[in-house]
Amino acid sequence: MKHFDVAVCGGGIAGVAAALAASRRGKKVILVEKQCVPGGLATSGLIYVYLPISDNRDVKIAGGLPEELLKQCQEYGPFTIEEKWSGIPDGDSGAHSNRYCCCFSPAGYGLTLEKMLRESGTEVRLETTVTQAYCNGKKRLKEIELFCGAERENISAECFIDATGGAFLLRMAGEKVFPETNYSTPWFMETNKHSRSAYHLTGDLHIQPIPVPAKDGQMAQVLSADELQEFIRRQYREIRRYYDTMSAKERKVCYPVHLPGMPQLRKIARISAMAEIKAGEAGKFCADSVGVAADWRQTATAWETPYGALVPQTIRGALAAGRCINSSGDAWEVFRVIPAAAMTGEAAGIAAAMAAEQKLDPQDIPIADLQRELRKNGVIIHINDVE
Ligand SMILES: Cc1cc2nc3c(=O)[nH]c(=O)nc-3n(C[C@H](O)[C@H](O)[C@H](O)COP(=O)(O)OP(=O)(O)OC[C@H]3O[C@@H](n4cnc5c(N)ncnc54)[C@H](O)[C@@H]3O)c2cc1C
Repeated sequence: MKHFDVAVCGGGIAGVAAALAASRRGKKVILVEKQCVPGGLATSGLIYVYLPISDNRDVKIAGGLPEELLKQCQEYGPFTIEEKWSGIPDGDSGAHSNRYCCCFSPAGYGLTLEKMLRESGTEVRLETTVTQAYCNGKKRLKEIELFCGAERENISAECFIDATGGAFLLRMAGEKVFPETNYSTPWFMETNKHSRSAYHLTGDLHIQPIPVPAKDGQMAQVLSADELQEFIRRQYREIRRYYDTMSAKERKVCYPVHLPGMPQLRKIARISAMAEIKAGEAGKFCADSVGVAADWRQTATAWETPYGALVPQTIRGALAAGRCINSSGDAWEVFRVIPAAAMTGEAAGIAAAMAAEQKLDPQDIPIADLQRELRKNGVIIHINDVE
C-alpha cells in the first residue's frame, strides 16, 4: 500500500492550496479529486469570480496562496487585475469593483491549477473518488479507499485533509457534521446575444446566473441522496424555464453552451471542530489565527481564523479545509468563498506537513510555529498585522 505524508481529499480551491502548501514544503503529497478537472466549484461548478482579498477600505488582507491563486487565475482568460493592485495600466478585473478581486475563465483556471499541482510535485489523481475511510481504535484516520476506472486502491498517510466541500471524508470517518439551508441560483455558460449579464468571458460567451424564487430555490439541507437528486432536478427545471420564456428567434442566438459539472450548493456540511467561528465575530482577535478572511459583502472589515475551526472534534490525524471548516451562520457566508478556501487550505497544508514531520497529531502542533511558517509564505495572520 502506498504511504504519503499528506493525503488531500477533494481538489477544489481549498484542496489545491493545501496540496501546494504541503508539497512545496517537500512533503510526499497525494491529491484526490473525483472530477477530471481540479478547482471544484470554481472550475467544474462555473463559479468564475475570485472574490476580494482586500477589506472594504481597499487594504490587502490576505497574501500567501490566496493572492498567488488570484494572480494565477488570469493566465488563460480575458481578465486582468486592476491597476491599483497589479500596477499594470488598464487592468480590468471584470468584477466591477475597486477591491482586490478578479473574474476568470473556469476552463482556463483548470488548466493553470493542474499545471501548478504538477510543478509542485503533488501526485494528482483526477477522476478518483474517496469511497471509504478507516480509523484505528483511537479514532485516528489511517487509511482511505480510492475508486478510479474499475479499480479500487487503499492508501495510507500521516495526515489527511478533508477538502471535499461537504466534509465527506470526515463524515465517513465518523465525525459529526452540521448541514445548512441551501438556495439555488443556477450559473451556466451561454451565448450572450440575449442577456444583460455583466461579465463576458469573450465577445460571445458569458456565464449567466439566474435567481430562483425562494419557494422553488430553497431546500432545508442537502445531505441525503434523494435531497441531492431533487436539488439537481430543480436546477435543470429552472434553466429550462429561463429559455422557455424566449421566442424561437431569440433562442437562435441565445442558447446554453455548458452546464455546471457539479451541484452548485453553497453550504453542504461543516464539521464539528475544536472551535467554531460564529456570526458577529468580525474583527475578533484569535490567538491561534491562521489567516484573515475578507467579508466579500463589505458589511464588515475582516475575520481572523482560529486554527481550532480546522481541527475535528473527535477524529484524529485529519484536518478540514475550505467550505466545510466549522464556521456557522453568517460566518459561513464569509468563509465559504474562494479566497477564504485558499487561505484555510494553505493553513491546513502547512499544519499537516508539520504534523507529518514531527509525528504529531495536527491538534498538537505548536501554534506559534505554524503561524511563523505561514508568515514566511506571506500569510497575514492577524487583522492588526495588516499594513
Ligand atoms: C451558486 C454559487 C455562487 C458562488 N459565487 C461565488 C463567487 O462569486 N465568488 C466566490 O469566491 N465564491 C463563490 N461561491 C462559493 C465558492 O465557489 C465555493 O464555496 C468555493 O469554491 C469552495 O471551495 P472548496 O475547495 O472548499 O470546495 P469545492 O469547490 O466544493 O471543492 C471540493 C472538491 O472535492 C471533490 N470531492 C467531493 N467529494 C469527493 C470524494 N469523495 N472524493 C474525491 N473528491 C471529492 C469535489 O469534486 C470538489 O472538486 C459560490 C458558490 C455557489 C454554489
